[in-house]
Amino acid sequence: MVNLTQASNLAARLRNKIAEYDYWYYVKDDPRVPDAEYDKLFRELQALEAQYPELLLHVSPTQRVGGKPLDTFPQVAHAEPMLSIRTETDISDQGAIYFDARVRRELGEPDAVVEYICELKFDGLAINLRYEQGDLVRASTRGDGAVGEVVTQNIRTIHQIPLSLIGCDAPVLEIRGEVFMRRDSFEKYNERQRSQGLPTLVNPRNGAAGSIRQLDPALAAKRPLSFFAYGVGEVKGWDKPATHSAMLDTLAAMSVPVCEERAVVQGAQGLVEFHQRVAEKRDALPFDIDGVVYKVNSLALQQQLGFVSREPRWAVAHKFPAEEQLTIVRDIEVQVGRTGKLTPVAKLEPVFVGGTTVSNATLHNEGEIRRKDVHIGDTVIVRRAGDVIPEVVGVLAERRPANARAFVMPTTCPVCGSHVVREEGEANARCSGGLFCAAQRKQAILHFAGRRAMDVEGLGDKLVEQLVDENIIRSLPDLYRLDTATLAALERMAEKSAQNIVDALQKSKNPTLARFIFALGIRNVGETTAKELARHFGKLAKLREAELEQLLQVADVGPVVAQSIYDFFREPHNIEVIADLLDEQRCGLTLKESEGVSSQALPLSGKTFVLTGTLASMSRDEAKSRLEALGAKVAGSVSKKTYCVVAGEEAGSKLDKARELNVLVWGEQHLLDELDKQGKL
Ligand code: NAD
Repeated sequence: MVNLTQASNLAARLRNKIAEYDYWYYVKDDPRVPDAEYDKLFRELQALEAQYPELLLHVSPTQRVGGKPLDTFPQVAHAEPMLSIRTETDISDQGAIYFDARVRRELGEPDAVVEYICELKFDGLAINLRYEQGDLVRASTRGDGAVGEVVTQNIRTIHQIPLSLIGCDAPVLEIRGEVFMRRDSFEKYNERQRSQGLPTLVNPRNGAAGSIRQLDPALAAKRPLSFFAYGVGEVKGWDKPATHSAMLDTLAAMSVPVCEERAVVQGAQGLVEFHQRVAEKRDALPFDIDGVVYKVNSLALQQQLGFVSREPRWAVAHKFPAEEQLTIVRDIEVQVGRTGKLTPVAKLEPVFVGGTTVSNATLHNEGEIRRKDVHIGDTVIVRRAGDVIPEVVGVLAERRPANARAFVMPTTCPVCGSHVVREEGEANARCSGGLFCAAQRKQAILHFAGRRAMDVEGLGDKLVEQLVDENIIRSLPDLYRLDTATLAALERMAEKSAQNIVDALQKSKNPTLARFIFALGIRNVGETTAKELARHFGKLAKLREAELEQLLQVADVGPVVAQSIYDFFREPHNIEVIADLLDEQRCGLTLKESEGVSSQALPLSGKTFVLTGTLASMSRDEAKSRLEALGAKVAGSVSKKTYCVVAGEEAGSKLDKARELNVLVWGEQHLLDELDKQGKL
C-alpha cells in the first residue's frame, strides 16, 4: 500500500510520461510506444486518481481528449465537441455484458432489453466534414476535442469523400468519421519505400494521421486513404432520424461511405455475438480495427444518457488484443527464401500480439535494420496485423542494454555456404547458389522443368514438393537419375504416369542453348535475354567465361543483368551442377550450340517490332521467333521507340497507335519479303 506522498509522486511521473507519449502520438504522428503500453500507464493513472481523488487535476491526461492542434494549420472551434469513447478493457465477452448492465442501470431500467448498433472501431484519424447546402466546405481534425485543425485541402485528395452530397441541401450537416489507410495500401507504400531505402510507416494509423496532418496536399494524395462515416456533428435544417442506425443508412444513401459491417442487436447477447463474429473476421479485413464500438441505437436514449467528462455514456469501445506489443530481440537470424533472398529475422522473447504468440518477426533487409537501428538485446515494437508476417516496426532506444550487439549480414549463405551477393541499387542480399541451395531447390527445379525452359511435361509443383521434401532430389542433376520405381512409389503416382515423366526427362536432354540458359534460372535472365545470350555466344563455355564487358555487348544486357550472369558463373556450386548435367555418364545432356553471332551484327538488331492482327501464313509465335532470329526485339505495345508494326487481318488499336505516332507499318506480304531478303544476307 502506498501513502499519499508516494501516490502523488507516482501520479506526477505517470502524467509526465503520458504527456510525453501524447506529444509524440498526437502532435508528431510518431508514437514512441505501442498503444498497449500507453494504455497500461493510462489505466494506472486512472486507478490512482480513482483511489486518491485529491490527486485528480483538471490538467490530467485522463481528463482530456486527443492532443493540441498544430498551429501550422488554421484552427477551428468545433460547433459540437469531438469526444473520445470509453474503452472497455475486459477483452473477453464480459466487456459487452458490463456495458449493457451499466447502460440499463444509468437509464434506470434494469430489466429493459436495450437496442444497440454495433460498428467496427476503425484505427485511423477522426475527421469532421462540414457540408453546407450539400457541399463540402471544411474538414477538420479532432484536435483536443474543442478545437481542431483545418485540413480541407488534404481531405479533398481522398476520392471516397464526396465533395457534394446526393439529395441533401441542408444548411449545415457535419459528418464525422475515420480516415484510415487500408492494409494493402500500407504494405504497398512500405514496400516501395523499403526498396528505395527510404523510411517506412510504423502502422496504417500513422500513415493516415501523418498524411492528413502535413502541409503538402500533393504528398497526401500519394498515400491512398479511405474513409468511413460513423456519426454526425452539428446539423441545421436536417431532421435527424430517430436512431443511429437509420442515420447511418441515410448518410450511405447520400453517397457517404459507411462500413457495411454493422448490425442492430438487442441486449447484451447481441453485443457478444457481434464481438465474436468480428473477432473471427478481423485478420481477413482489408483494414486495421482495434475493436468494435457499441452504441445505444435510439438518439433519444443517447441524449438521456449524456456524457461524462470526455466520453459519452451511451457508447463503448470493446477492444481486441493489441496488434503491437513490446518485446526483446534475443537474436537475429538470416532466412533464405525460395528466390534466394536473405531475410534477417528477429528471434523474439515470445509475446502475445494480434491474437497469437509471436516469437519471430521479419526485419526485411539489412538497410531496414540500420534505418531502424535494431540491435540484438533491444526492446522493440512488434506488429502483427491481419495475415501479414509479424514485423519489427521500431526500437525503444532508451531501453538498450549495455551488452546489445549490432547485426552483421553473413557473407555466405547460411543454408548452402554459397556467396552472398547484393546487386547495386538492390535492397536485398541474395544467395548466389541458385542451383545448389536447398532453400531454393523447389523453385529452381520447377523453373528448370517449365514449359519455356526444359519442358519436362508432368513435373508439376505437387510432385516437385514431394521429391524435395523426401530428399529424393537434392540438386537438379538428380532429376535425370529418377527411375520409374522411385516415382511410382510416390503419392498420387501410378506406373504409367511415372513412366511418362521418365520419358519426358529423356526427351528434354537435347535442348537449345537458349532454353538451357533460361532453365538455369539466373537472376534477371528471362527468356528473351537467354535467347540473346545464346545467339551472341553460341556456346555455353564462352558465356561461362565471359567477362562483364563482353556480357555488356549483348543486346538487352545492362549492368545489373551482366552482374547477375557474372556472379552466377563464378559460384563454384553452380559450375558443379552444370558439369554434372552435361556429363555423358551422369546426366547426359547435350546442348544444341552454334558459332554465335555478335548481337550487333544481325540485320534487324536494335529494332523493335510489334505484331498485331492475324497473319495468314504463320502464327504470331513463329513470326516472333523469325524476327528475333534476325536480331529484332518483339514488344507487346507500340511506343515512339517502335521501329515497325506488322499488321495482319483485323489489326486494331495498335495499328491506330502506330499511325498516330507515325511508326512504320508493314503488311504480311512485306514481312515475308523482308524475312526472305534478310535471311539470305
Ligand atoms: P480512441 O481512439 O480509443 O477512441 C475514440 C476514437 O475512435 C474516435 O475519435 C474515433 O476517431 C474513433 N472511432 C473509430 N471507429 C469509430 C466508430 N465506429 N464510432 C465512433 N468512433 C470511432 O480514443 P482516443 O482518445 O482517440 O485515443 C486514445 C487511444 O490512442 C488509446 O487507445 C491509446 O492507446 C492511443 N494512444 C497511444 C499513444 C502511444 O504513444 N502509443 C499515445 C496517445 C494515445
